[in-house]
Order: sequence, then structure tokens, then C-alpha cells
Amino acid sequence: MYKTCAFCSGAFDGDGGPSGLGVGRRLAFDEWRGRLWVVCPKCGRWNLTPLDDRLDRIENVARAASAGRLLGSTEQVALIRWERYDFVRVGKPPRLELAEWRYGARLKARQQERLKYVLPITLAAAGVMIAINAAAGGSLGVMTFQLPNIGNAIYTGIVGLRRVPLAEPPICARCNTVMELRAKHVQRARLVPDSKADLALVVSCPNCHQEGALLTGSDAAQALRQGLTFLNLRRSRKRRAADAAREVEASGGPDRLIKDVSRRQLTLRSLRPERRLALEMAVDEQEEVLELERQWREAEELADIADGTLSSDPQIEEQLKRLRERGQEPPDA
Ligand SMILES: [Zn+2]
Ligand SMILES: [Zn+2]
Repeated sequence: MYKTCAFCSGAFDGDGGPSGLGVGRRLAFDEWRGRLWVVCPKCGRWNLTPLDDRLDRIENVARAASAGRLLGSTEQVALIRWERYDFVRVGKPPRLELAEWRYGARLKARQQERLKYVLPITLAAAGVMIAINAAAGGSLGVMTFQLPNIGNAIYTGIVGLRRVPLAEPPICARCNTVMELRAKHVQRARLVPDSKADLALVVSCPNCHQEGALLTGSDAAQALRQGLTFLNLRRSRKRRAADAAREVEASGGPDRLIKDVSRRQLTLRSLRPERRLALEMAVDEQEEVLELERQWREAEELADIADGTLSSDPQIEEQLKRLRERGQEPPDA
């Protein structure tokens, strides 16, 4: 199991408890679909765990959860505390509910991360102001009203300067310089339709400010994530997880939303706020599904090899049997 978050590179907390993963204090699991996630304490995103012995792990987590205390639940999602762990049990949830839940946690984690920066910056600025004010004979008192805004602005600046991690930085087609993209540069990017790629993002050059390169696939997803995080931070207070979830639903799912935004070719910063948050969620979901698909293919390949070389491995048989049994259970069982 990895030790850091795939989305924000932050270190996981906890030791995984009954999951045996060795990391994680908040774990999410879906017995119905056989999924297990470690929830990042920093950004609130769900990190899918590797497929190997996932079923055993889920079973152990589910057993511990059944002995825990229910903190809150909706029809399909339950938050359960057991000892020092939080478990998020996911049923077979309609997208809206799950998205609301996941996005709510994500927005909260962001708010907390923001406060970690904003408070110290504000306090430091206050110290300076008080000193200046005293030197000026107390006539500048009114300026302290602006202090939280200064802290917020500095934090937004920090996030905006985050580098977009690309395997190889693109070269600008207009001015030929290497484009060192940071989150704030992505606000002028726009999604465009592309027959070959799920995601195609035209990015403008930090040097000449013209559209200089086309990113596709996981590069486009990386850039989108960083850029949308920055943009969605700037007016996050009015943003609600439920609105974004509804927006994705209204478009007919994450796939359709991405296609729709691509067809209109608007820059990210000119999208409506709800739509921008919805896009961020859609990109996340798509990435997660792609990752699931990759793991599934890998598992299938391994199964092929195993079937060809081993007549019948009792352990694999057992896992398959349990998987089939689970598949036959009604979702609420
Ligand atoms: Zn994270
Ligand atoms: Zn350029």
C-alpha cells in the first residue's frame, strides 16, 4: 500500500487498523462492489486500495464497522466510528448521494487546509500592523479589518503557484519556450473535443500568453485538477457539494459533462462556479474509473495466466466463489 495520497501527495494518517493496510484512519468501503479506499486526511479524496486481498480486507473492516458507533447516515452511506477509526460504509448509492458525501468531505478538508495557512499569516500580519500602528500613534486601527483577506489572498497565491506535475513539460508552439505550468496558468485553459482522447486541454503559455500546447489523457487530467482546485478555492464559500452533484446528474453523468464542456470550448475560468466544481468532480470520477479499469485489466491478465498454468488454485477459487456470492446479494443485505 502506498503511504501518501495520490491526489495531493500528503502523508496518510493512522495505521489502517482492521484493514491491515498499515495506513489510514478513515477508510471507505463498498462490500457490494468490493472496493476499499483510504480517505486522505489532508484533501479528503478517496484513494483506491490495491486489488490484492481486497476482499479479505473489506471483510475485516466491515466486521469492525458492525461493532462501531453510527455517527450519521443517509440511505446508502454511513459514517461509523470504531475505536480511533472512521469507516464510511457505502451501499449501492445513487451518484447524487455519494457525490454529495464525498464532495462535502473534500470541501471541508480544503477549508481546514486553508485555515492552517490563513490563521498564521493573519496573526503574523496582525503583529506587523500593531507595531506599525503603535509607531504611527494608533491612527491606523481601521486596517486590521482587512487582515483575514490578506491571509486568504496569500493562501490562494500559494495554491496558484503549485506546479502542474507533468511527465514532460510541453514546448510552446508559438514562442518555443518550455512551458512551466502552475495551477494559476490553467485558468485560461479550455477543454476541446478530441476524437482520440477522453480529455484534451488546450493550455496557454505562461511566457507569451497564447495558446501554446495541447495536453491529453492523464497530463490533461493533472492540469485540470490543479487548475480547478485553484479556481474553485477562490470563491468556495458559495460553492456547495450538492449543487455540483446535481449539475453532474443534470448533464447525464461525468462523462457527458466533460464532453459537453469540451464541445463549448470555454476557458475554465469562464465556467459557472457550480459547473466548475462539477467538472472537477467529473474529472476525479473519471480518473477513478480509469484506475479501476486498469486494475481490473491487470487482474484479468493475471487470472488468464493463472488459469493457463495452474489447474485450479483453491485460494483463487475461494475468492471467486465469494465474489459471486456477494454479487447475488441484494444491495441492502
Ligand atoms: Zn490528499
Ligand atoms: Zn509561448
